[in-house]
This record gives sequence, C-alpha cells and structure tokens, in this order.
Amino acid sequence: MNFSLVLLATSPKASSSPDIMGTIQSLLGPIIGCLVMFLVIFSLSLIIWTFRDIRARTQDFVSQILATVLVALFNVGGLFIYLILRPRQTLAEIYERQLEEESLLAEMTERQTCTNCHARVESDFQVCPSCGQKLKRSCPKCERLLELRWTYCPYCASNVGSAPMPGNMPGISMQGVPPSSSLQGNPSMPVSGNRY
Ligand SMILES: [Zn+2]
Ligand SMILES: [Zn+2]
Repeated sequence: MNFSLVLLATSPKASSSPDIMGTIQSLLGPIIGCLVMFLVIFSLSLIIWTFRDIRARTQDFVSQILATVLVALFNVGGLFIYLILRPRQTLAEIYERQLEEESLLAEMTERQTCTNCHARVESDFQVCPSCGQKLKRSCPKCERLLELRWTYCPYCASNVGSAPMPGNMPGISMQGVPPSSSLQGNPSMPVSGNRY
C-alpha cells in the first residue's frame, strides 16, 4: 500500500487503483517489446555468427547447414552443442600449418651433410669444414660452384671434365696436395687438373 500512497502524493489529482494498473501496463508494454526485440536480434546474431564460424572451419555444405539449423532451433543450447562439436581448427589455420610443415620439410631436405663425416654443410661449401672432404668445385671459366659429378658447367657451358671420384681420391688427402702435383700424378684427368 506504501507504493500507491507515494503515487497518490506525487500526482496532484487523486487517482484510483485501475488507473495505476493502466499506467504500469502501458509502461510494461514497451519494456516487453524491447526485450522481445533484443531476444530476436540476439538469436539472429547467434545464427549468423554460427554460420560464419562454421564456414571458416569446413567447406562441407551439409555440416554448415546442420550447425546453423542446430543453433536456429535450440538457440543458446544449440550454440553450446555447436561449440563442443565444431572442428577445432579453422581452414585458415589448417592452411597455415600445412605451409609451415612444407617449408620445414623443404628446409630439412635442403639441409646437406658431408658424405664422409655427415657433418652439416651449406650448399655453397667447397669442402667439408670438419673433415676436408671435397664437396664442390668451382668452374675454371665462370668460377661458379659445380657438383663434382658434372662434366659441363651449366652456367657457362664449358667442359670441365669428369671430377675425381671421392672413393679414388679421398678428400682428406687432396687437401694437403698442391694442385700441380695432383695434375702430374693423374695423367688420366688432364681437363680437371686445369680447374685450379
Ligand atoms: Zn666431413
Ligand atoms: Zn662455368
């Protein structure tokens, strides 16, 4: 009764109780309307969010429709189920990870090791830094690095001859020998001797 007394005191003319009820009802109408509107917009945005999210995670059309329908039917409950069941990674994340793995694999295959001591060597090393094994030689004409097995330089097309086989001539012994004596000692390889 206190509430109605206050209302009576504030309003200049005395109003009856049906009048108060009417005021409350007229106030409640817009409030309920706003609430309903909020709930409708909220559930719509849940559906839109789910649709966008599932589209970022799978290209399967049936899964996309199922997830969206689930949230449309059960609202927050459906969203909860969707969050449990949705694919863990987005397609962008999967793609990124694949790229990472590929680059890692490429790096691993690119990484070369010494044929003799299996120490890690770079692709532009001429000899192994740990054991002295000959890995590459430079072209006598253009001075670019060539594989030992190459007969022709692919850069300047000059004939560089056949390289000494690693088995016949171990890289360790080659290091201490001057190039001129190695040429004289191997008359079978006149062209390869010229490369120094
Ligand atoms: Zn080595
Ligand atoms: Zn060359």
